[in-house]
Amino acid sequence: MSRTKTRRPRTTRPELHPVPATTPAPLPTRDREFITETAIRAYYVAQLRGLPVRQIRDWTPTASGATTSRGQYGTLTHTPSAPHPFQAGIPCATGTTHTYPIRHGADLRAAEQHAAACTSRHGAPTVLHLADGLHRADTSAADTQKLSTAEIADGLAARAAADDDQPKEHPQP
Ligand SMILES: [Zn+2]
Repeated sequence: MSRTKTRRPRTTRPELHPVPATTPAPLPTRDREFITETAIRAYYVAQLRGLPVRQIRDWTPTASGATTSRGQYGTLTHTPSAPHPFQAGIPCATGTTHTYPIRHGADLRAAEQHAAACTSRHGAPTVLHLADGLHRADTSAADTQKLSTAEIADGLAARAAADDDQPKEHPQP
């Protein structure tokens, strides 16, 4: 008895592994240009005039064509076409922002001192109204007169005697 074993041909199937469909992550986008011409111009003009400058990137262009930089003093805005190319916005001691035309570093330092020494209320009358109200309250308390219970009873009796209104019927429609 012959044992013949028929072998099936070995088929080599490639093993398939499902690969999840992935899309590559989107590339990062810049929201603005890294360095703009207006930022470069503002940086160099500020440097020439002795104004505090840090980096060109710290100057942010605005929609109006100006360029703004924020510092410890407040904001410094460069507008090339303005008579005074720089304008500083400096918060004062009362919380309002003062604007100053700036030609050079000494102007900015003077503006900082002026804003720090500001004692103006800038048209906020809240404190004045409160003081007036307190004054009126003191006056009305001083004008109040004390009454005894007998005087109050007499006053109520006189008011009741004067009030001789009889109950009225509702008007007919
Ligand atoms: Zn002020």
